[in-house]
Amino acid sequence: MFITFEGTDGSGKTSVIKAIVKELEKNGKTEYVLTREPGGNRISEAIRNVILDERFVEMDERTEALLYAAARRQHIVETINPALSAGKLVLCDRFVDSSIVYQGAGRSIGTDRIAEMNRFATDGLTPDLTIFLDIEPELGLERIRRNRQDEVNRLDHEKMSFYRTVHDAYLELATKDSKRIVEVDASQPLEAVIFEVREILKKRASE
Ligand code: C5P
Ligand code: MG
Repeated sequence: MFITFEGTDGSGKTSVIKAIVKELEKNGKTEYVLTREPGGNRISEAIRNVILDERFVEMDERTEALLYAAARRQHIVETINPALSAGKLVLCDRFVDSSIVYQGAGRSIGTDRIAEMNRFATDGLTPDLTIFLDIEPELGLERIRRNRQDEVNRLDHEKMSFYRTVHDAYLELATKDSKRIVEVDASQPLEAVIFEVREILKKRASE
């Protein structure tokens, strides 16, 4: 089973995934792979460093979109597909939906174009379930300001309207694909968010 976690910056994806993994370990479930995008292997992490490098602020938006897709391709071939073939649970921090909302909507390339480009990169691989951690972008960025000072500069390069556009695009995706994408109110305290996500996963596992 392939599960992805999505949300705007500061929505708590990484913390929630960590808690879920801790729980899996506690229950003796070791047949899982935890990974993230962009990244997950040597080549994709190297591409991530290029994409997120503050010295490259002038990067063209299509270049950026192609790099995300390239990192994703390598990630699928090297990490995700082998794990799924071995019957493992794959938990991934961001996937194609991030490209659709950040590059397609946020950078105005067009959500359909980004979706199409990614079909080439993924060969149609789609998550079985996507947890969308829904938070007002202002609140998410506020959390980052409080907890991750090192990221503030990079995030401040974008206007607030960019994050609003990204968030709106997530909501639209979640409405369009409501069978796959489950929304969780991520403005709740972390413990409550984790509880809700855990319940969703339990329900899916029993279906
Ligand atoms: O998931 P994480 O917060 O580590 O993502 C790193 C950064 O990359 C975020 O600030 C996010 O805004 C950005 N990003 C993006 N387009 C994507 C994926 C991530 O702009 N497709
Ligand atoms: Mg994170």
